[in-house]
Amino acid sequence: MTTLAPPAPTDHILCRDLVRVFSTRGVEVQALQGLNLQVTAGEMVAIVGASGSGKSTLLNVLSGLDTPTAGSATVAGHDLLRMGSRERIAFQRRSVGFVWQQTAKNLLPYLTARENIAAAMVIARGTRARDRHRQVDALLDLLGISALGDRRPSELSGGQQQRTAIAVAIANEPKVLLADEPTGDLDEATTEEVLSALELVNRERGVTVLIVTHDPTVSGHVRRTIQIRDGRTSTELWRSTVQDAGGTEQVIAQEFAVLDRVGRLQLPKSFTETLRLSEMVRLELEQDHVGVWPGIPDPGPGAGPADTPASTPANAPAEGRRAARERTDDSTTPREGGER
Ligand code: ADP
Ligand code: MG
Repeated sequence: MTTLAPPAPTDHILCRDLVRVFSTRGVEVQALQGLNLQVTAGEMVAIVGASGSGKSTLLNVLSGLDTPTAGSATVAGHDLLRMGSRERIAFQRRSVGFVWQQTAKNLLPYLTARENIAAAMVIARGTRARDRHRQVDALLDLLGISALGDRRPSELSGGQQQRTAIAVAIANEPKVLLADEPTGDLDEATTEEVLSALELVNRERGVTVLIVTHDPTVSGHVRRTIQIRDGRTSTELWRSTVQDAGGTEQVIAQEFAVLDRVGRLQLPKSFTETLRLSEMVRLELEQDHVGVWPGIPDPGPGAGPADTPASTPANAPAEGRRAARERTDDSTTPREGGER
């Protein structure tokens, strides 16, 4: 087995081969199946994925609420698998902040917005009254809720409640802010409002933000959108802006697949569906890329079932089909290193 480099100080989140298995009444559910994730200090990253794909399980592990079954996970310099209960409490109080989907979980209903933020400060850092007033004001101001400080959660709209929840979540000055579907209960306009607030916190306070959502529009707010499928990170969408010759900004989005340490990758569903890739695909090493073609090995002419459309699909390039035959014919004598 290869030795892995320890996490760098700039890795605010580093998960390697993370596994979480739940066993309930003899039934095993593999919620995380060897997940890999690296988030650098100061990044804002979104994780998207269908319901049941393991998003909440991942955030529960990263926030120290749950312990993984296997693999490794480091958040803000803390090894989540090795830390004892004292370190765990200190980690939760000072290193991470959390925003939940249900606003009721984020705020104490009988305290005002201002008191909710102040309470979080006192619990985490024991901030003294004089500094506290100033810091609470700064947070209310940052999140654009200065005028609402004296309202209780029930007197705030959904978006205002989530902005208050973000203020509470960063009141302990965490390195990492984790948000599990913070916009799940909100309409489109309010979703924009909350995502912009998270962006602001990331930009102004330098907090590393990991936001979990099933809302695909989130990719407009982050540079990296990571797709999680079946408990594994599968693809990443990277968004960047460039200026064209006329000086106009253009957004470029590129899709990447996550390649794990043993060489596994997951193809996007849209690719497998469009080319009807299933069970077996044919691989070809080219000079600077890898070709993937649909179809099972073709045993060659006269071999009966192999000439059915399934083995030589109409959409497989002629070149590809020819190569498939060569590969099959050669199957007992491996080809020499990369010569074509
Ligand atoms: P997501 O947040 O992406 O919807 P979850 O992380 O909540 O997905 O769940 C992933 C899988 O793990 C699901 O199949 C879910 O039923 C299962 N699961 C999550 N938590 C538990 C638990 N405490 N006990 C048993 N199974 C669980
Ligand atoms: Mg969830």
